[in-house]
Amino acid sequence: MTYHYGAAAQTRPPRISAAFDSGNIEVEAASRCDDIRLRIRSDNASSHLQWFHFRLAGAAGADCRMQIVNAGDAAFAKGFADYQACASYDREDWFRVPTSYDGKVLTISHRPAHNACWYAYFAPYPLERHAALLARAQAMPDALLLPLGRTCDGRDLDAVRIGRPAAGKRQVWVIARQHPGETMAEWWMEGFLDRLARTDEPAVARLRERALIHAVPNMNPDGSFRGNIRTNAAGTDLNRAWLKPDPETAPEVHAVREEMFRTGVDVCLDVHGDEALPYAFIAGYEGLAHPLPGQLERLAAFRQALDAATPLFQTKHGYPPAPPGRANLNVCTSYLAHTFGCLSMTLEQPFKDNEAAPRPRTGYDPAACRELAEACIEVLADSLD
Ligand SMILES: [Zn+2]
Repeated sequence: MTYHYGAAAQTRPPRISAAFDSGNIEVEAASRCDDIRLRIRSDNASSHLQWFHFRLAGAAGADCRMQIVNAGDAAFAKGFADYQACASYDREDWFRVPTSYDGKVLTISHRPAHNACWYAYFAPYPLERHAALLARAQAMPDALLLPLGRTCDGRDLDAVRIGRPAAGKRQVWVIARQHPGETMAEWWMEGFLDRLARTDEPAVARLRERALIHAVPNMNPDGSFRGNIRTNAAGTDLNRAWLKPDPETAPEVHAVREEMFRTGVDVCLDVHGDEALPYAFIAGYEGLAHPLPGQLERLAAFRQALDAATPLFQTKHGYPPAPPGRANLNVCTSYLAHTFGCLSMTLEQPFKDNEAAPRPRTGYDPAACRELAEACIEVLADSLD
């Protein structure tokens, strides 16, 4: 049987689905392409909502108007101002499509060229790709996969240790996706791990010589699969659980923290995405009551070095630093800076395009995430002097 969907789209209603890895949307109305009304589902066990990811089918050639009617209820609703949604026909190449936000409703306007088109808040990073990344990482020279624990839904929580253990080596930690909807964090991790495999590059050799590197590519696989923006399957915001992680409701943080106590931490980079700011930046631990001598200077030096290393990063825009004594020790960066006296940083990347290095077709995208990660290797190697 032959279907002529381009023509049929006018008579046959389009189909919208989200029953797949990291899918998130509910359909309120979809009888016509030019009047599709959708709702983002909140995290499975909390009221946060922001991540969306769905497939529109049967609408090739039709002018589609997709309204996310509860966008104004999102966790960081202001993040939808000046934001353009991501779309893909092959789930590899993600490009931006015209999107507007009126303070309540997010409207995506697009005429898909093919009959199946995926839309998402940012390029998704599926668990299949996560498994492939782990497999590739453990096969690189001097690497070891460490099964650290188990998530609420029974998934594996893994780290990869890279480098040869030796006395006097620094312990460098990189962790990503405590907030599962911040998929750019795992795209960053992919660039980071893949570059660490290229041992003939001087910066890679230098970092491996000086440090043991511990990478947790995905801190929150349950939230990732469920299409959550912020929390794990138990409804916990993992980046508010570092002081006393409950093994029942924050087993991911509990397991990683245990391993950190075994190894010690000299540097930690906790990789995230920020909904509102169109820049990459680092949030630090200015709020500590009693930073060690030189600890704040190391933070400033790292920011400056990364700024010099890549146009993707900048130091002008970011969160206002917490006043001394006001650090929230439930946040990973502050907790580690306080507990280990180390250099500990939250690396934020944009959901919007990066105004410091715009990419008109794709906005800030997986390739940019990987490039930023590659630039971090030199800077990390130098930060250990
Ligand atoms: Zn985050």
